[in-house]
Amino acid sequence: MGLLDDQSRWRGKIFTGRWTSTGATMEATEPATGDVLAEVGTADADTLGRCAGQAAEAGRRWAATSFTEREAVLRRAAELFEQHRDEITTWLGREAGKARTAAALDFDLALTELRAATALPAQPWGTLLPTTQPGRISTARRIPYGVVAVIAPWNFPLILAMRSVAPALATGNAVVLKPASEAVVCCGVVIARLFEEAGLPPGVLHMLPGKGSELGNAVAEDPNIDLISFTGSTPVGRNLSEAAGKHFKKMVSELGGNNAFVVLADAEVEAAAAAGAYGSFAHQGQVCMATGRHLVAEPIAPLYENVLAKIADGLTVGDPRGDVDLGPIINQSQLDHITDIVRRSVDAGARIVTGGTADGLFLRPTVLADVTPDMPAFAEEIFGPVAVITTFRDDDEAVRLANGTPYGLVAGVHSGSAAHAQAIGDRLRAGMIHINDQTVNDETPAPFGGMGESGGSSRFGSLTNLDEFTVWQWVTVRDTQSHPSL
Ligand code: NAD
Repeated sequence: MGLLDDQSRWRGKIFTGRWTSTGATMEATEPATGDVLAEVGTADADTLGRCAGQAAEAGRRWAATSFTEREAVLRRAAELFEQHRDEITTWLGREAGKARTAAALDFDLALTELRAATALPAQPWGTLLPTTQPGRISTARRIPYGVVAVIAPWNFPLILAMRSVAPALATGNAVVLKPASEAVVCCGVVIARLFEEAGLPPGVLHMLPGKGSELGNAVAEDPNIDLISFTGSTPVGRNLSEAAGKHFKKMVSELGGNNAFVVLADAEVEAAAAAGAYGSFAHQGQVCMATGRHLVAEPIAPLYENVLAKIADGLTVGDPRGDVDLGPIINQSQLDHITDIVRRSVDAGARIVTGGTADGLFLRPTVLADVTPDMPAFAEEIFGPVAVITTFRDDDEAVRLANGTPYGLVAGVHSGSAAHAQAIGDRLRAGMIHINDQTVNDETPAPFGGMGESGGSSRFGSLTNLDEFTVWQWVTVRDTQSHPSL
C-alpha cells in the first residue's frame, strides 16, 4: 500500500496531527495534461493561529523527549520514504511536471536531508564557558526556537520542504508547513503522511495549504511562531521579512538567483557547453541555481553558441510519463513570464539562436545570444529553459558582469586551468562557487545558501542546520544560592 493510495484519508483535508476538514479545498493539477490529480483542504489565518498554538504546546513536549526518541522517528521516516520512492517520484512527475532525472534528483536530495537529520538529535549542543565566578558552572547551550513555519516553493517541492522540516523536527522544534499550491501533494501531503506513519506525536507537525499572502501575514504576526524558514522568490521573501522583522522573528530566507556561468577563453568548449546546457535546461530551468547567464570569452563565443544550440535541439520535451528530457513549464503564468522576458530582450536586440516556441506548456529549450546587461534576459530571473549568452573581453569584464546583479546565489567557472578559474571564482560574490562545474549543485553536507538578494546569510545543510534551527542560551549554575551585596 502506498503512502498516498488511500486518498479517502487525506482528500479535501489539512493535517493538524490528524486529517481534518475545514470546508475549503483546492485542487492539485497535472501541468502536462491539465487533469485534476487530487483535492486537499485549505487553511485560513484563523486556522493557522489555532494550529500554531497547538504546535507550541506539542513542541514543548517534543523538545523534552530523549534524543533517542526524536532520532527513532526520523529514522523511521527515512526508511518509509525510501520504501515509497517509486510512488513519490511518480507524483513528482505528474504534479510537478518533472522528467525522470529531475524527479529522481528531488527525491534523492530529500532522502539524504532526512537521513542527515537523524544524526542531529545526538549532536553535542553546548559548550562549557570560562567564568570569573568561583563555584559557578557557566555553559552555553543551543535550544530549539519553538515553532518553525516552513514556506516552500513548487519547483523542487520535496527537498525544499524537507530540508527545513526534517532538521527543525530533529532539533526539537514543532513545524507548521505551508506547502506550495502548485505542488501541494508533493510539498505537503507526502511529508505529513510520512511523519504520521513514522509516529511523530500529534500536534508537532501541521500541514496547512492555502493562500500564500493570507498565511504569510498570519505566520509573520502569530506570537507562537518564532522562526520562519522561507524558500521562494525575492519579492515575496522581502515582504515577508519586513513583516516578520516587526516582531523580531528570525527569518531563514533562500530566495531567487540569476547565476553566472563564466567560460574562459582557455576552456574546452564542448565540455563547457554541455555543462552550460545542464545548468540552464535541467528541470526546464525552473531551478534557483539554474545558469541564468552564460558569460563567454569573445574568441570562443561563436563555437560555444553552436554547440549549446545543438545540445538544445537534441533535447526531447513532453509529458514526463514518457521518456523525455524536459517536461512542461509549471503553469501558464510562468510560461508567460518566460516568453515575455525573451520577447522584450529580442525587441532590445537579442537574437534567438534556437527554441523560443511553445506547444501548450511545453517550451523548447532556447538559446538567446547577443544579450547585454541592459536587457531583461540579463537583469531578471527567467526561471525557464533559456540559455542567455553575453560575451566578455577580459577577466575584469567577466567578473564585473558576473557580479552585475543584486543576486548572489551561485556561480560556476570553466577553464582549461583550474588555477585561472579559481582566481576568477575568488572574485565572485556568491554563496556557492563551483570551479570547472556548472551552477546546479546541491549536497546535504554543504552549507547551501546565497548572498545579497538571494537570501543574505541564511544557510541549509549539515551542521549549519544547528545554527539555523536552534538558538544559543547562556545557563549558569551555582551549588549554593548566591548572596551578593551592593
Ligand atoms: P513564490 O515566492 O511565489 O512562492 C514561494 C512560497 O511562498 C509558496 O509556498 C507561496 O504560496 C508562498 N507565498 C506566496 N505569497 C506569499 C506571501 N505574501 N507571504 C508568504 N508566503 C507567500 O516563489 P515560487 O514561484 O513558488 O518559486 C520560485 C522562486 O523561488 C524563484 O524565485 C526561485 O529562485 C526561488 N527559489 C529559491 C531557492 C533557494 O534555495 N534559493 C530554491 C528554490 C526556489
